[in-house]
Amino acid sequence: MSNVHELNFLKDEIQGLKDQGVYRKLPVLEGANEAEIILNGKKVINLSSNNYLGFANHPRLKKAAIEAVEKYGVGSGAVRTIVGNMDIHEKMEEILAEFKREEAVMVFQSGFNCNAGTIQAITKKGDLIISDELNHASIIDGTRLSKADRTIFKHSNMEDLERVLKENRDKYRNVLIITDGVFSMDGDIAKLPEIVELAEKYDALTYVDDAHGSGVLGESGRGTVDHFGLHGRVDFSIGTLSKAIGAIGGYVACSKVGQEWLNHRGRPILFSTSLPPAAVGAIIEAVKMLMETTEFTDRLWDNAKYFKEKLGKLGFNTGHSETPITPVIIGDEAKAMEFSKKLLEKGVFVSAIVFPTVPKGTGRVRCMVTAGHTKEQLDRAVATFEEVGKEMNIL
Ligand SMILES: *Cc1c(COP(=O)(O)O)cnc(C)c1O
Repeated sequence: MSNVHELNFLKDEIQGLKDQGVYRKLPVLEGANEAEIILNGKKVINLSSNNYLGFANHPRLKKAAIEAVEKYGVGSGAVRTIVGNMDIHEKMEEILAEFKREEAVMVFQSGFNCNAGTIQAITKKGDLIISDELNHASIIDGTRLSKADRTIFKHSNMEDLERVLKENRDKYRNVLIITDGVFSMDGDIAKLPEIVELAEKYDALTYVDDAHGSGVLGESGRGTVDHFGLHGRVDFSIGTLSKAIGAIGGYVACSKVGQEWLNHRGRPILFSTSLPPAAVGAIIEAVKMLMETTEFTDRLWDNAKYFKEKLGKLGFNTGHSETPITPVIIGDEAKAMEFSKKLLEKGVFVSAIVFPTVPKGTGRVRCMVTAGHTKEQLDRAVATFEEVGKEMNIL
């Protein structure tokens, strides 16, 4: 019998992963993604989710999702350009535009999808994309789908960005500068005011992927553009509905013209079914909640500050984070992995992040503090960090 379907060519690759020590199984969550979870059968404190505001299992979002299912069903039944554009999809975009204080919003099925669809739609041959070297994988993939030329600038290095602009501006029709709003591995914020100034000086377009900034930075989570007061000066502001907003989806806030174009040329809009009603219902409710009160983002920042200060006082190196993303930098890769493993054994789940995701020698665990954590849970987590830190001679 032929063994052609055994995919031996992949088996060898998988063995390679095992040899390098980077092979892993997917952790299994039993129940909702909350501050405390049942992971692989054991109850642990969760410091690894992007559920910044605790919305993923919030009663008001669940109720809104259920009501949307009752009225609209479980699926939208088509792509938006055919017959999958329900009135709630339109309502979701209107309320998001109002929240973001921008002219228009186009929603995609995920943040990944949004970058993949938008970047290729707004650029073409004869254009140049300039990307921060630490930008997210979905930006890299979106850029690969574009026919424009591409280049990178050193992470948040404005001299390098200006050098690239100076050397290239005259050779291209449009130049698009792309940056993450908040960088997910260190929690640092893009130097957006400087980027915008350079873009204006060199007549370039700007594109901010605010996946970790939406629901986190700015007034009640309006994002990095709002945080810096740059409304009207950033051309494309991308947010995700999968992290702080608690559901799934991604969007681009831009001018009406931009939205009109994406309506016709954003390939995921044309060739992939629109978001299901449950997600849309939950998203509308989440945005309403953020417009009603800043209590969710206030609690998030309060918790983040509390946790960061306590770890810092113990002597951990929490890097140069400016957001609730709290890296605890260990250095050695194997030691960082061991640290994460020991924390989990003692009931705290924090994922280790090592080379090649971060530079060699900066292995770390990355703590994601949320509004959903109680001070008691954070205290317990800090005590566990202290215990394991001493045990491993990190402290
Ligand atoms: C998570 C993330 C995305 C992807 O968003 P999803 O909605 O999860 O697909 C895109 N860009 C950045 C910077 C991210 O951190």
